[in-house]
Amino acid sequence: MKNKAREIVDKLNKWSYEYYTLDNPTVSDAEYDELYDELLAIEKELGEVLPDSPTRRVGGELLKGFSEHTHLGRLYSLDKCKTEEELISFVEKIKKVDPNAEFTVEYKYDGLTMNLTYENGYFVRATTRGNGEVGEDVTAQILTCKSVPLSIKEKSGTFEVQGEAIMKLSTLKKYNETATEPLKNARNAVAGAVRNLDPKETAKRAPEVVCYNVGYYEGNRFETQSDMTQFIRENGFVGGYYFKKVKSIEQVLSAVREIESNRPNLDFLIDGAVIKANSLALHDKLGYTEKFPRFAIAYKFKAEEMTTTLLDVTWQVSRTGKLNPLAILDPVDIGGVTVSKATLNNWDDMMRKGVKIGSKVFIRRSNDVIPEIMGIAEHTENSVDIVKPSKCPVCGSPLRFDDVFIYCTNTDGCISQIVSKLEHFCSKDCMDIEGLSEKTLEQLYRETGIRYAYELYNLTKEQLLLLEGFKDKKAQNVLDALNKSKTVELWRFIHSLGIRGIGKKASKDLADHFENLENLKNASVEELVNIEEFGDITANSVYNYFHDEKTVIELENLLSVGFVFPQKEKKSGAFEGVCAVLTGTLSKYKRNDAKKIIEDNGGTVSDSVSSKVNLLIAGEDAGSKLQKAQKLGIKIITEQEFIDMLGL
Ligand code: NAD
Repeated sequence: MKNKAREIVDKLNKWSYEYYTLDNPTVSDAEYDELYDELLAIEKELGEVLPDSPTRRVGGELLKGFSEHTHLGRLYSLDKCKTEEELISFVEKIKKVDPNAEFTVEYKYDGLTMNLTYENGYFVRATTRGNGEVGEDVTAQILTCKSVPLSIKEKSGTFEVQGEAIMKLSTLKKYNETATEPLKNARNAVAGAVRNLDPKETAKRAPEVVCYNVGYYEGNRFETQSDMTQFIRENGFVGGYYFKKVKSIEQVLSAVREIESNRPNLDFLIDGAVIKANSLALHDKLGYTEKFPRFAIAYKFKAEEMTTTLLDVTWQVSRTGKLNPLAILDPVDIGGVTVSKATLNNWDDMMRKGVKIGSKVFIRRSNDVIPEIMGIAEHTENSVDIVKPSKCPVCGSPLRFDDVFIYCTNTDGCISQIVSKLEHFCSKDCMDIEGLSEKTLEQLYRETGIRYAYELYNLTKEQLLLLEGFKDKKAQNVLDALNKSKTVELWRFIHSLGIRGIGKKASKDLADHFENLENLKNASVEELVNIEEFGDITANSVYNYFHDEKTVIELENLLSVGFVFPQKEKKSGAFEGVCAVLTGTLSKYKRNDAKKIIEDNGGTVSDSVSSKVNLLIAGEDAGSKLQKAQKLGIKIITEQEFIDMLGL
């Protein structure tokens, strides 16, 4: 068993070195944590902890090149739990010490710990956590970071403000679009940015520091964690995007659940929630272990990232003829879901990421987002280069290489394109025709030669009965579904046409704006550009669709089926003629409810402020949208005035 402990310690120390010192991990956090927990269990059973065990220490080795700095207040890691039972037991333990204990619940930001020092009101230094006692001086790097105030209101005394350097996911995405070496994830990206000897590289990745703690101060300035948060916010720091003070176990759990449900919509990484006792007197009483404070715990969420082996890359031909690379993976469990396929975007992206078949890769899966290969974890001796296709993998036709994308040129004859187009037409968000799956449509094409959507409406029962698994009832159901689909909402019909760049939302916008197909067909590019969120490319794509000889004939054929587009009932009310934007936090309504109320009363709601918007409803903490609306002279009302408009 001691040998096993030795083996694990060596492995974890190697991974820690790659993670903390090189900012270049070769395994996911979940895999590290699993082995770390195994080590903890072995150490408990052995009653012995190896001198270099990672369970003894915080962080990893410092990077050479930076000067070292000893923190005034020591920085710790956090104890972790994964289940609500463990969290309840943490809360109960603290309640035993103080039955009236209050708790704070915050996001657990997944970035790089920062310690910011202020002397007599001025920023003097930024350091990494390092080993908790000594960190690396990254002042020059953090000076590039606009969210760190250079001077604060409080002009007397020395403070160390702790926070997390994070990189926004949108910033990472933009950076990776052109980077010669794309970054694997926002956590490593920000750690590599801040611990980069060239501050210009730091600036390129635009890190932000979110602060949550004052680790060192003089005197008895604060009594609670809430006081510290208030100080942080009042002194111009980014003071945490989520902070709740709660009392009961139920409230702790409900805040944690709320954070988990916010997670997919955030523009930065969080890997859990941090729960702390609020009273600093209680902190003193509970104290610290070698590694953690006893008054705080991290509730870790399910993993979103894992590593696995890339077994193969296949190419799927979409309805537009685009070849989409699909990664075939050694199946891996990510947060309770088995993932065996992932996307790889395009050829250039694959090459920039250095992906090879047989290599270990990082896979990310969050909620309903399609799993994606983020980058290489490690190449192996079996790694081989991926071969760029030289002909269509489905029909063998020549390819067209357009910017980063590859297209099959056989628009009319490639079975994959034909079937995908039909599948899109029948899909749930288009004509919603049940019973015509991809497999059935492929069979139909092979048996009957059907290739255009209008031909589906001439199908006979005899033809359907030729298909595998089709009996009288199933065939009749398909015929009934086709018949039913002849009465269809206009936006569904528009979506089903497969116009490039026109998804569900844009189809709805077109249907709302033009009200009937005739108006849409006759729309000019100028008119189309005027639709909220339509740019030149989208407007031209729609215009070209209705003016291209080939698509016009296809559309005429389709319309000869005789579709009926029921007129949308015009809603009337207090918001007729109003295009509103909702911003900030409304106290009485959820965003979606307020949106529905406006629409039910004749108005429309836009996501962004533009000249087409004529009303802004500003809740609490309204930010940039409010400023933009003020600049554009748009009428601005409060939540109460909104309620008054409704006559409620
Ligand atoms: P941690 O990062 O999981 O948690 C502690 C840190 O949380 C604190 O230092 C602080 O910086 C941060 N934090 C974020 N939000 C906070 C908030 N609101 N309040 C207080 N603190 C907050 O722990 P750690 O000790 O820094 O790192 C250990 C973890 O690192 C492991 O669990 C593992 O997931 C990961 N790791 C991964 C590898 C790898 O190879 N993939 C290697 C080593 C470590």
